[in-house]
Amino acid sequence: MDSHANLYATVDLDAIAHNVGVLRERSGSDVIAVVKADGYAHGAVAVGRTALGAGAIALGVAQISEARALRAAGIDGHLIAWLHTAEADFAGAIADGIDIAVSSPRQLELVLAQARRLGRTATVTVKLDTGLARSGVSPEEWAQTADAVAAACAEGAISLHGVMCHLAFGDVPDHPLNSQQAQRVDDAVADLRARGVRPQLVHIANSPAALTRPDLARDAVRPGLSIYGYSPVPDIGDFGLIPAMTLETRISLVKRIPAGQGVSYNHTWVAPADTVLGVVPAGYADGVPRLLSGRFGVHVNGRIFPNVGRVCMDQLVIDLGPDGGGVAEGDRAVLFGPAGAAGGAPVPTATDWADTIGTIDYEIISRIGSRAVRRYVGGPGGDVDA
Ligand SMILES: *Cc1c(COP(=O)(O)O)cnc(C)c1O
Repeated sequence: MDSHANLYATVDLDAIAHNVGVLRERSGSDVIAVVKADGYAHGAVAVGRTALGAGAIALGVAQISEARALRAAGIDGHLIAWLHTAEADFAGAIADGIDIAVSSPRQLELVLAQARRLGRTATVTVKLDTGLARSGVSPEEWAQTADAVAAACAEGAISLHGVMCHLAFGDVPDHPLNSQQAQRVDDAVADLRARGVRPQLVHIANSPAALTRPDLARDAVRPGLSIYGYSPVPDIGDFGLIPAMTLETRISLVKRIPAGQGVSYNHTWVAPADTVLGVVPAGYADGVPRLLSGRFGVHVNGRIFPNVGRVCMDQLVIDLGPDGGGVAEGDRAVLFGPAGAAGGAPVPTATDWADTIGTIDYEIISRIGSRAVRRYVGGPGGDVDA
């Protein structure tokens, strides 16, 4: 750790590349790497570049602003953005050659208006609601949308690149809705073909489906979580995925306290005996959930030391024990990472944190805050701080 920051999210780009390979192999299909929410907080540009370098055919994000930021950073691969309000920057997306996934005939109309105004052909994907009942063209609006797509293609205002949907039960591989959703996509593609329109890129599967239901892949799968190395179905397997992020810092202070001393806000923990505390400069503003207070440990010098007292906005406290555990100010402290991120005891994982507080690892990793400096190791560019 070679800059002055307190806290680092170290991202192993070789792990990202490896995970893309795992997904290609397991799904037997091309991969669209999902890098929304700043690459699940790993850094969308570095992850996106690495995924494309490892053979991903496109990157997926939610918002047009996210796709435009990737373009501005010099990524020239295929980019798909699928979540828009009426105020979205459709003109910017068209100018940047971003594939705009539309969820209604109204959104298609807005894209068309900008394409006509700019005199350019917009690249469009149709996003279908085949059962998730979230974004996507509803069954009620499908015929109208298919007609509008065909007319816009004939006009040359759009080129229909893709058709996509998102699964409601991807993490329940045998759920009957998975195959029904895929069938509805196939039916919609047939409807478009009957109107003379042929999408080139049909995609359905998220991480769990990419890993467990290769039969649902059409032209590509569209994983997010597993790109970052987490299994969305840990009961089924880890598939050889490698978690890419290690959240790490250094002990900022070591101090001795007497028995009876309460620690952190409201003294929710009181030292039962004389002990030594270590202060860890990471808190809930950095994505360490306050709900974890007193329910997790931090890896220092090969050992796990328990958090005591409340997790605060910027810092938390660990109990180093009466002999101080041999821990000194400045020692490396690992909050979570792949099990082998440091020697000695296995390092806690983001999944451990999620399980402890009753959420999912998606939420843990995507909430790692901007104050954690992203530091990249591995990958073609070697090690860099960002
Ligand atoms: C987030 C998202 C994905 C990726 O899902 P994972 O479960 O992280 O693989 C795929 N498609 C859409 C539409 C999404 O919103």
